[in-house]
Amino acid sequence: MPTIHPAPKPSSPTYFTPRNMADLLSIINPATEALIQELPADNPAAVAEKYNQARGAQPEWGALPLADRISPILRFRDLLVERVDALAALLTSETGKPITQARNEILALPGRIDFFVAHSDRVLTPEPVYAEPAHALPGCGALEEVITQEPLGVVANISAWNYPYFVGGNVFVPALLMGNAVLYKPSEFATLTGGAIAALLHESGIPEDIFIPVIGSGMTGAALLEQPIDGVFFTGSYATGQKIAVAAALKLIRPQLELGGKDPAYVCADANVAVAAAGLADGAFYNNGQSCCAVERIYVHTDVYDEFLEVFLQTVEGFKLGDPTDPNTYLGPVSRKPQLDVLADQVADALAKGATLRCGGKILNRPGWYFAPTVLTEVNHTMTVMQEETFGPVIGIQRVASDAEAVALMQDTPYGLTAAVYGTDRQRAVDILSQLKTGSAYWNCCDRVSPRLPWSGRGHSGLGTTLSLAGIATFLQPRAWHLRAG
Ligand code: NAD
Repeated sequence: MPTIHPAPKPSSPTYFTPRNMADLLSIINPATEALIQELPADNPAAVAEKYNQARGAQPEWGALPLADRISPILRFRDLLVERVDALAALLTSETGKPITQARNEILALPGRIDFFVAHSDRVLTPEPVYAEPAHALPGCGALEEVITQEPLGVVANISAWNYPYFVGGNVFVPALLMGNAVLYKPSEFATLTGGAIAALLHESGIPEDIFIPVIGSGMTGAALLEQPIDGVFFTGSYATGQKIAVAAALKLIRPQLELGGKDPAYVCADANVAVAAAGLADGAFYNNGQSCCAVERIYVHTDVYDEFLEVFLQTVEGFKLGDPTDPNTYLGPVSRKPQLDVLADQVADALAKGATLRCGGKILNRPGWYFAPTVLTEVNHTMTVMQEETFGPVIGIQRVASDAEAVALMQDTPYGLTAAVYGTDRQRAVDILSQLKTGSAYWNCCDRVSPRLPWSGRGHSGLGTTLSLAGIATFLQPRAWHLRAG
């Protein structure tokens, strides 16, 4: 049996003690630019040591009855709710996520945990698939064919900063339930939250050598991939995803890649314009546009274009921007300073090519990494704002003359995470969405994730699936049993 240790408290130095210290991570508050803390990162030797701990502990963890893995996960779920105020404050301090949205994220994870727990037994249950009675001949006893499921072993969970509870939890919760050990590398921009998640899991009873935080930036992530791990589950950018895929290919291990998007939405001529404008403004600007499935491009049928634009702009102008610790704030700073230049460059490129600036368009002159919420019209696909992931509070809105024109523009991307259609005719929406290569399709909604449905991307948006039954089974490998009575 793996040892179930009493866990350290979130402030424990356990995760951040110098271990052959490689370099220091500076944790900066994006709203104030103040240094919160400096932390030592794990160098390759420390990563190897953590890997060895996980490798040694995993067989016993994987052999436990499922109920013994479920009970600490359920304690973790309850502690998330109990500690939400402190956890949300920490997340807001290091990412600038508005506190209300930080709370929403943390309080939505328990629903996902409930789904994983409810379906774990079903995914793990051995499946008899064939039986043949004995024949009279020697060596022809009764035959059974059975499929059982085994954990992958030691998996790496390399995570992003924009939704650390969601994108991390989609991986480490089912991975642990299925009997794997997890080497969890939080993003360097959500490191304190990563430490808090680890402390909470350990306090809940997950052994410290079964869920191990690996602290550092991309260099530490690369060192993790040098270890003989059994799978890598990555959330992040397309550029880093390519590197992960190469490393996984050389090891012949399973890569799962949840990558970026350039998600389009189309407002049909028969849409309820008020619903579409409110829904798409939220889809484009929630979490400051820093969602993998944020609405990144909007196409509007010319019949409703003017009305849509008016309501959309009113909605955006009503968003409260400011201190992310204020519960009424909807737009905080962006989480990473270099993103300000990406946003400014996309706006400048669009304006140089003939776009019209309807609001925003600039870095705000105040402490913190704030970019004014920006709406551009008269945009086209020569502009980077309609082609490259924006990942910030900037949206382009393009007028179209027909459904066919909308489909052609929506398809014009190497990404394929989600797409949305707003309109009253369900069949028309389904027909349009069926023509697009995306993992998720939305009718009269957007920027939505359900634990019951698979979360996956096409093209540059990634490989593999989280959530749904497939997102649990992805942490298992099947074994084929050919059992003949002697
Ligand atoms: P990123 O690619 O910069 O970093 C992601 C993680 O990879 C971090 O932990 C980082 O330290 C690590 N990393 C960087 N270089 C590495 C290397 N060479 N080897 C191993 N690890 C390395 O991405 P980000 O800025 O943290 O996240 C934003 C991106 O994530 C956006 O493109 C967004 O769309 C995407 N995202 C996708 C989903 C999804 O479900 N599809 C969800 C959230 C975010």
